[in-house]
Amino acid sequence: MSIAENLLRIKSALPDKVTLVAVSKTHPAEAVKEAYLAGQTVFGENKVQELVPKYEALPKDIEWHLIGHLQSNKVKYIAPFVSMIHSVDSLSLLKEINRQAQKNGRVINCLLQMHIAEEETKYGLSFDECETLLASEEFRAMKNVCITGMMGMATNTGDEHQVRKEFRSLNEFFSRHLSEQTANFKPAVLSMGMSSDYRIAVEEGSTMIRIGSTIFGSRDYSIK
Ligand SMILES: *Cc1c(COP(=O)(O)O)cnc(C)c1O
Repeated sequence: MSIAENLLRIKSALPDKVTLVAVSKTHPAEAVKEAYLAGQTVFGENKVQELVPKYEALPKDIEWHLIGHLQSNKVKYIAPFVSMIHSVDSLSLLKEINRQAQKNGRVINCLLQMHIAEEETKYGLSFDECETLLASEEFRAMKNVCITGMMGMATNTGDEHQVRKEFRSLNEFFSRHLSEQTANFKPAVLSMGMSSDYRIAVEEGSTMIRIGSTIFGSRDYSIK
């Protein structure tokens, strides 16, 4: 199946309120171009060093989302153009995003990455840490970031019950905070679901799915 056919197949089964982020990591700019020509305009990358060259090479109406772990010292490279950062998991990172956004005269939309999986290795905030961050004076004073929602990754398991439970817990937490709108906290986006589990995520309230291999095929990490 072609990239265009894969996109169509996924999109035709999605509720209107769910945004599809096409995750193009490890795939060449030509593959992104093919998806773009098929009508896809929102793309996700997990590495700054891959995102920047693709941004430079491709049409400027593409919305680029950074979905992977972000180091503070790399924020400056994406601050001029990034549309959304899904992987904010500390106040110090948020501070740097705010600083770089200000330098560029922008407000950068961010999602707080929440730890919902059982695995120890995944990044993300606990529910308590998230609430502490949102309540902090330091965050409330930031004028160049807006937290527009939350992101979570479920445990990598075939146990559908486990995955569903994790997505549900994040949706419940997210929903409890929906009414707490402030100047820089405007929760509307719940980014949950990848190729293996997006159908469950959508059933559990996801509004944004991040799909790579189902669109672009499997990734070959040996090719640089
Ligand atoms: C790679 C990646 C995805 C997409 O994964 P697929 O299984 O290829 O759909 C989604 N989210 C994040 C954070 C990723 O790094």
